[in-house]
Amino acid sequence: MKILVINSGSSSLKYQLIDIASRTVLAKGVCDRIGLEHSFIKHTKAGSDPVVIDRNLCDHRVALKEVINALTDKNIGVISDVSEIDAVGHRIVHGGEKFREAVLIDDNVIQAIKDCVDLAPLHNPPNITGIEACMHIMPDTPMVAVFDTAFHQTMPKHAYIYALPYNLYEKYGLRKYGFHGTSHKYVSERAAAMLNRPLSELKLITCHLGNGSSICAVDRGKSVDTSMGFTPLDGLPMGTRSGSIDPAVITFLMEKENMSEKDINDLLNKKSGVLGLSEVSSDFRDLEQAIEEGNEKASLAVDVFCYCVKKYIGAYAAVLGGVDAVVFTAGIGENNDFVRSKAVSGLEFMGIRIDEAKNKTRGVEIDISAPDAKVRTLVIPTNEELAIAREVKEILEKRK
Ligand code: ADP
Repeated sequence: MKILVINSGSSSLKYQLIDIASRTVLAKGVCDRIGLEHSFIKHTKAGSDPVVIDRNLCDHRVALKEVINALTDKNIGVISDVSEIDAVGHRIVHGGEKFREAVLIDDNVIQAIKDCVDLAPLHNPPNITGIEACMHIMPDTPMVAVFDTAFHQTMPKHAYIYALPYNLYEKYGLRKYGFHGTSHKYVSERAAAMLNRPLSELKLITCHLGNGSSICAVDRGKSVDTSMGFTPLDGLPMGTRSGSIDPAVITFLMEKENMSEKDINDLLNKKSGVLGLSEVSSDFRDLEQAIEEGNEKASLAVDVFCYCVKKYIGAYAAVLGGVDAVVFTAGIGENNDFVRSKAVSGLEFMGIRIDEAKNKTRGVEIDISAPDAKVRTLVIPTNEELAIAREVKEILEKRK
């Protein structure tokens, strides 16, 4: 079964064609600068060098047509006809309270995703554009929507409700939703496989640490709490996002610095996090370099990040009433041994202890716990596209 996974942004469209039986990526790429000048596709056939094709991608429909052309091309393609694509999986950022799992797309589903636009005004509209472009170009191919929020719909109400007047929840759906659900779910399943135990027995804390970061308490396969909230701004400090701060800071700054709503949004989303603290970079590789050169603000930024990760691990161990394994994933979680080590240091009293030699490993599935650790610490590379493709396969099989 060949599944095309689409992640459609406002001016970009990322794609991967995955052969689900062998779990391999046949080809992948990105259409960039859609609707802008100098648009192009960067396409990579597995085992070959990337090819950059300059094309006028005036909209997502044209971009998708070019993707199909690339996939079916004699030289850089991997299929001979579009009919070889069995299904398309669309990554959708926000499914609100309507979607607790992936669904086969029909007109009602599209309308329901449109109904969630207020909750994700930057993300859901281009996601819908991607679906509509696919429906136009591949009208007979089944399509599945896979939501970043769906995995967290199992959170109990006391975990997701904010202590605001209740009518605001009823009026606007103002509550915690959580994101990165596909990744938290995928690494939870991989953790169970690595531990050789059923997921239905495990208490896991999954740490997705990338440009955007979130942590999830997973109780027997179900999300029971997560650090991101109504939007992906909440929780941990991130590359450029502040994470949780006292909400009173906002009105204080609006008054003192004469800041508008847009200024505040820019400050909290684009100028804060480890970038704002370090004044160096949002990228942890640059921060590591700066720390080596003695930059104290870079060092502080990484310390703040690790301290917050540790606090969530402690909090979620309390939420779960114990923990079998802590999982690190995404760019930082998979590659940054310093962050992993610092985030779990001092947690020996909980049974968490890592083997520093094993911790040096990068980017592969590995158990980095010390032999005597009661709680396992695992590094598991996430693979959101493969996870989406697997969800698509499950939905198609249920349909039969
Ligand atoms: P995104 O949320 O954009 O998918 P990623 O998961 O790629 O982000 O994470 C980006 C972060 O991961 C950056 O801070 C980067 O420094 C770090 N990172 C990514 N790859 C590596 C690597 N090979 N070695 C060290 N750090 C890495």
